[in-house]
Amino acid sequence: MSKQIDYKLLPLLAAKSEAQWNRYFVKNKKKLESMDVQIHTLHDNIFKHTNCLNCANCCRTLGPRITDKDLEKMAKALRMKTVDFSAKYLKIDEDGDLIFLTMPCPFLGVDNYCSIYEARPKACREYPHTDRKRFYQIYKLSIKNASTCPVVYEVLEAITKVN
Ligand code: SF4
Ligand code: SF4
Repeated sequence: MSKQIDYKLLPLLAAKSEAQWNRYFVKNKKKLESMDVQIHTLHDNIFKHTNCLNCANCCRTLGPRITDKDLEKMAKALRMKTVDFSAKYLKIDEDGDLIFLTMPCPFLGVDNYCSIYEARPKACREYPHTDRKRFYQIYKLSIKNASTCPVVYEVLEAITKVN
């Protein structure tokens, strides 16, 4: 069985493969459009040997975009008013999006557990997006994510080396 890749190695590993991943995209745009089933199977298989609790790199480094619905859910979970929650935990970034005021995420524990797991933002639930429909639409974004998430790295390696 494969082993989970140490997230600390990813920036170097992803940088080595980036040109190849980009070349693959240029040559296989059409083919990628019909590869969702294959990519979702890779996602499932890679998550069999990947434990997010041994990583939490996304929670440490990427700020999820927070929707109004996310804000309501999180504030409710902490029994806070949304206005107080916003003042304590959120800020608006340069693109006008609502994000956490500080990263690592204020809800990430030292044990890598999320203390608001049931109420976590949609973007957290959907990350790393390797099981989403029309994966080809986020292929380029995934190249960026591959230096953060071991699952994305392995998915891209598998797509581009096998096909
Ligand atoms: S989704 Fe990826 S980056 Fe986030 S904790 Fe899991 S393996 Fe790590
Ligand atoms: S809310 Fe939870 S899942 Fe989302 S970044 Fe923070 S710790 Fe991670």
